[in-house]
Amino acid sequence: MTRAVILVNMSAAPHKTFYLETFGCQMNVHDSEKVIGTLVHEGYRQVETVEQADLILYNTCSIRDKAEQKVFHRLADYKKLLSQGKKFGVLGCVAQQEGEKIFERAPHVSLVCGSASYRKLPQMLSQLEAASPTEPASFDEASSRSRALSPAGRGISRAATLSTLVRITGLDDRETDECFETEFTARTNPHRGYITIIEGCDKFCAYCVVPFTRGKERSRTSASVLAEARQMADLGYTEIQLLGQNVNSYKDPAGKLGGGKSFAELLAAVGEVPGIRRVRFTTSHPRDFGRDIIEAIDAVPTLCDHVHLPVQSGSDRMLQAMQRLYTREQYLERIAWMKAAKREISITSDVIVGFPGETEADFEETLSLLDEVGYDSVFTFKYSPRPNTPSLALEDAIPDEEKARRLEVLMAKQREIQITRYKKYIGIISEVMVEGRNDSRGQWIGRTSQNKTLNFTAPETAAPNVGSYVPVRARASFPNSLVGEMVV
Ligand code: SAM
Ligand code: SF4
Repeated sequence: MTRAVILVNMSAAPHKTFYLETFGCQMNVHDSEKVIGTLVHEGYRQVETVEQADLILYNTCSIRDKAEQKVFHRLADYKKLLSQGKKFGVLGCVAQQEGEKIFERAPHVSLVCGSASYRKLPQMLSQLEAASPTEPASFDEASSRSRALSPAGRGISRAATLSTLVRITGLDDRETDECFETEFTARTNPHRGYITIIEGCDKFCAYCVVPFTRGKERSRTSASVLAEARQMADLGYTEIQLLGQNVNSYKDPAGKLGGGKSFAELLAAVGEVPGIRRVRFTTSHPRDFGRDIIEAIDAVPTLCDHVHLPVQSGSDRMLQAMQRLYTREQYLERIAWMKAAKREISITSDVIVGFPGETEADFEETLSLLDEVGYDSVFTFKYSPRPNTPSLALEDAIPDEEKARRLEVLMAKQREIQITRYKKYIGIISEVMVEGRNDSRGQWIGRTSQNKTLNFTAPETAAPNVGSYVPVRARASFPNSLVGEMVV
């Protein structure tokens, strides 16, 4: 499906070009694959540099302030290219969060589109194109608001000045019930690919912008997810990663009576698609994490033995302030289910330090939780106040140096845990998917079902193909990876 469509269209209409840079999480990476597929279907060709492009797009992240600032720096860096008639668009979370304010901060931007409006991209692109450089355009349409504003930039060419008049917005808010489903997905990796099964979030954790930027929680039908999984398998994909802000909050719109599946049932069904050898899923929310997910992993060997279960804090006081709606004990109960699974499940997490009111004692509880769980990896974040979020009302009283200190302590502790955990795999044979080759090291790059990097050597006579699965015995360990040799 995907690759064929891209090839056909690239040769059919190569004249309109776009450059797209993606910031942020896997959801954004996959959204970009769908945006690229849509643009290619609309006759655009993707190029590798801003200079080569007619249309410059940024798919943005606003989870932390730093991520948001990056986008505005990029826009400022390339503003000068406006005089060459190039058009700029901001997509994703910053687009949704800042809305039309982006036009004030970066007047050379023509398109602002949040992720909940991506399905309207073809219309928005037509509007953008129709706004020819010879005539300012004025658009009025229920589905996407666009207007002609007064000229913003004096001292630049007429064409460029007029192009700045075009202002197209796709800012569907929490009201939208629709998912961005498209058959035109430009997956770059031919062996493993993402499928979004649920969009948005209704959890409203105190610190988080996602419920405001990605709209309300809405799931695709399991029938549509399975159809996509089968198509991918037909195209030769062997690994599928199911995506959602909270993938396990999935609710099949078909409902129980209509043959709808629970998340665990959907997981198992994707794992049973002929040709699929690995299924991953991320991110899971502790509140909706049922035992049935572990039962599915036990029952279906293609479901990977890895669960990413963000805890955020080990202190009940902080969990309550963060509005996570689970306790340390409830979280540890879920960890106990995982530890009782038939296969050893690798557990990873996200932790925030320096949330308003976090005391040294609270922080110590997070450290002790790391010991208790024994994570294989933890993404660590310093609390960053975000617009619209409930915690904005709380004083962000912990100085940045103290947040940085806690982060360092946390990372050092986790590094020690990982050194011990990774050592356990020395001498063990694991099946890896071959992801590529590191010529400078003379090694192949492999990934285990547990999502660990296991790089390895192989005899020249038995060099593996990228995308194949081979057995590898680990010979040495590092805090974040293993090194071994292929078993021939
Ligand atoms: N839905 C997932 C969950 O609830 O576990 C998390 C998704 S969120 C996009 C990814 C991570 O970003 C969160 O788990 C959290 O650790 C971090 N994060 C979100 N908002 C943050 C903020 N305001 N400051 C620092 N880290 C933040
Ligand atoms: Fe953000 Fe909480 Fe939703 Fe995760 S569950 S996306 S942290 S609001």
